[in-house]
Amino acid sequence: MKETKRLPAWIRKQMYYQESFMHTEKIIAQHGITTICSQAKCPNRGECWTRGTATVLILGEICTRNCPFCAVGHGKPEPPDPTEPERIAQMVLDMDISYLVITSVDRDDLPDGGASHFRDVILACRAANPLMRFELLVPDFKDSQDHSLEILSQALPFVFSHNIETPAQLYATARPGGVYSRSLQLLAKASERWPEVPIKSSIMLGLGESEQQVLQTLKDLHDAGCDRLAMGQYLRPSAESLPVAEFVTPEKFTWWEEQARSIGFDWVMASPFTRSSYHADA
Ligand code: SF4
Repeated sequence: MKETKRLPAWIRKQMYYQESFMHTEKIIAQHGITTICSQAKCPNRGECWTRGTATVLILGEICTRNCPFCAVGHGKPEPPDPTEPERIAQMVLDMDISYLVITSVDRDDLPDGGASHFRDVILACRAANPLMRFELLVPDFKDSQDHSLEILSQALPFVFSHNIETPAQLYATARPGGVYSRSLQLLAKASERWPEVPIKSSIMLGLGESEQQVLQTLKDLHDAGCDRLAMGQYLRPSAESLPVAEFVTPEKFTWWEEQARSIGFDWVMASPFTRSSYHADA
């Protein structure tokens, strides 16, 4: 990774590998659970797992799309594993957590984009612990948005999240399988359908976006009904991934947080290490 030679001081992360980290790691492995923390090589894994939290990645480790900023593998995925909801419910009990973020790879091969599997995971966890709260970080559900949201209605309540990731101008390079307007449309549909549900999105900075493009993206998200926003620094997960165009300073992230609040977001997290699921229960 070329960038590591010139990482600014604020990007160097403290290592956390303590006993509680091993405990989390052991439980996840025992139940055969996949996490986005590991798959995406998240820089917060030491911190989050030490705190006893993790974000589960359901529906396999193979994505039907191939975004060059993402470390998750792509290709032809396996059918959904019917044992996964129950295994995650057992993991949740063993970890003794009350808030779970659930995300998935893109499953454009499934007629509902994987929505029924999200629902089944929530229902299994809720049966194990009725006090559990959930946050769903879903794909854009391509051609099945209405159908997929209808299915997810069976698992309310939850925080609904879908990441816009980057401004429209960078989609061709960073998110070639996605469509900016389609992502906004999903958020708007969720917001209209579930007025009581918090709607969240995230954006990565450092891919070459301009300030004006980011401001427009924040306004678009807010107009689509988003009230929660996470902003973090893009970090190249592998030598094959898109290079980092810019390291945004912590001061600039503070400025972005102020901008987001002035646009109208009422929950904002913005810092170099912020990720969609970072301190999601805050
Ligand atoms: S920020 Fe999210 S993906 Fe990263 S380690 Fe924490 S829970 Fe996992």
